[in-house]
Amino acid sequence: MRKPFVAGNWKMNTDSHSSISLAEAIASGSSDIAGKSVSVAVFPPFIYLQSVFKALNTSNIAVGAQNFYFEPDGAFTGEISVAMLKDIGCTFALCGHSERRHVIGESDELINKKVTAAISGGVFPVFCVGELLDERKASQTNEVITRQTKNGLAGLIAEKISAVTIAYEPVWAIGTGLTATPQQAQEAHELIRNLLAEMYDARLAEEIRILYGGSVKPNNAAELMRQKDIDGVLVGGASLNADDFLTIIRAAV
Ligand code: PEP
Repeated sequence: MRKPFVAGNWKMNTDSHSSISLAEAIASGSSDIAGKSVSVAVFPPFIYLQSVFKALNTSNIAVGAQNFYFEPDGAFTGEISVAMLKDIGCTFALCGHSERRHVIGESDELINKKVTAAISGGVFPVFCVGELLDERKASQTNEVITRQTKNGLAGLIAEKISAVTIAYEPVWAIGTGLTATPQQAQEAHELIRNLLAEMYDARLAEEIRILYGGSVKPNNAAELMRQKDIDGVLVGGASLNADDFLTIIRAAV
């Protein structure tokens, strides 16, 4: 039985005050269920990770990083290592988010190094895959998801794969207000679960949580999470509003 997981990606938003008040509002509004019937995590900007971690300290809400570099240490100006994330209390880290793939230009190969480094360093990767609008229109959705999943998880042995959460995020739905229909999302999630069964085995594939992301809002979260292979949601815009995010957290249970 997979526990639902609701994650909030704050992207490059909030400031030193609003990050703390947002964290506190989420913690107090979800204290009866967070960490019990639903896993909850927030992904603030790097610079607020520690203060948000402190603000969430007595809650069961985990903190994750939006990014990191795969090398353990050294001359990598401006980068943050997995060990540093672990050191300040991060449980999760995003890998392969579409904005890093398509705005920053991260390749499948780099993302694979990050997924591998996160697991080795004891931080759980939330590994994102998803097709562009042109790829969906050209009926390439399955091919893109298959390629990104296989390349991103390349070399990971079965013992490591249970550390991974996968997020299916169609790029055309991220930040656009367009959401995949529950059926479109379910099809993609089923494809990913079948791929995991092929790459590993059916039992492991059944254990891995696959989140949907792309304009998840209070009014569509419940229907999406009712789908058989949708185990939670990765929320961008709506995670910046405590009431909206809390409604989505409640929709998971
Ligand atoms: C995201 O940032 O992963 C995301 C899905 O954003 P939004 O919910 O705003 O579409």
